[in-house]
Amino acid sequence: MTSLEGPYHELTVAEVIEETDDSKSIVFEIPGDLAERFEYRSGQFLTLRVTVDGHRLVRCYSLASAPGIDDRHKVTVKRVEGGRVSNWLNDHVSAGDRLEVMHPAGHFCLRDRETPLVLFGGGSGITPIISIIKTALEQTSRPIKLIYANRNDRSIIFKEELANLLSAHPDRFEIVHRLDDVHGFVDAARVVQEVGPKIDADFYICGPGPFMDVVENGLASLGIDEDQIFIERFESPEADASPAEVDAAGGTVVTIRLDGNETDIVVGEGETILSAARRSGLEAPFACEEAYCGCCMARVVEGEVEMLMNDGGIDQRQIDEGWILTCQGIVKSRARIEYPD
Ligand SMILES: Cc1cc2nc3c(=O)[nH]c(=O)nc-3n(C[C@H](O)[C@H](O)[C@H](O)COP(=O)(O)OP(=O)(O)OC[C@H]3O[C@@H](n4cnc5c(N)ncnc54)[C@H](O)[C@@H]3O)c2cc1C
Repeated sequence: MTSLEGPYHELTVAEVIEETDDSKSIVFEIPGDLAERFEYRSGQFLTLRVTVDGHRLVRCYSLASAPGIDDRHKVTVKRVEGGRVSNWLNDHVSAGDRLEVMHPAGHFCLRDRETPLVLFGGGSGITPIISIIKTALEQTSRPIKLIYANRNDRSIIFKEELANLLSAHPDRFEIVHRLDDVHGFVDAARVVQEVGPKIDADFYICGPGPFMDVVENGLASLGIDEDQIFIERFESPEADASPAEVDAAGGTVVTIRLDGNETDIVVGEGETILSAARRSGLEAPFACEEAYCGCCMARVVEGEVEMLMNDGGIDQRQIDEGWILTCQGIVKSRARIEYPD
């Protein structure tokens, strides 16, 4: 049996690759019956659900592999200090293990243009970026420049793979390595300098928050149009969770089943189920909160729920089975919601 009830599928780990001292890649075997479900575009991510110290936790990891180029799906996980899932995956996963994984999702992808590509990657932010680069080198003739920031030389993930891509495409691929211990942090002036005359390019940014802010500011100072800029944020949900204050008086009672426990919560008028669950202290899973990742999916077992929008996070078959995206779910009556077991 490869599929569980709900959005998660059990996949076998084919290989674990040590990339740097603090990051590992996990390569998955996709069984034939799930091949279509796991088709992906460069830049998309997988959502993994693991149990750490008795807590079920959900995290997204970008695919560093590229479809049609790399044989197997590969994600790369960098340890976050004090981080539960990233350390657990680095410490506990080995070939042959089975992990619960949700189908690929995300919008951080190439669009159909022939203008140059300028990509800014910081640390583990290289994962979706290397996938995009591989596809762009293979399927387009776009000139590509990567500005890749790392703490030091030892922390460069995919150093060799990038060097190989560079020697295969020296005519239109360029890499600028920026090392904190040698060059200091990237600043907006450096961003402007690296972009040079390529202001008609498409820009892709992924990395730590402050790095992305600097790059965004640099691009803004060049007057680059927002629709030329693509950003993937890696923020950890719980790390910056600050549920909104809501007046739940007069709201609707909803029973939530999560990790085997049942809790009655009150969902305020116009409040989403996810927001109310978090406000009530439940560790309900989520990531994008914009209806495209599917992390927050749960099933409506009783009552009526309407979704504000669906940007591909859930498909029609799942909707027909009663699944909803809780980040978009507004209750219309007393309801019972069950997260996948
Ligand atoms: C679309 C997307 C793609 C991503 N792709 C990648 C990828 O390719 N590679 C990658 O490595 N990561 C990626 N991430 C990030 C990844 O999903 C995780 O957020 C990351 O691994 C950290 O998770 P964690 O469970 O280890 O950390 P968490 O346990 O969530 O902790 C994160 C931080 O918060 C602190 N913290 C935790 N709990 C508390 C608390 N109760 N109070 C105060 N502070 C606390 C921790 O000390 C730590 O510094 C991606 C994220 C997104 C949204």
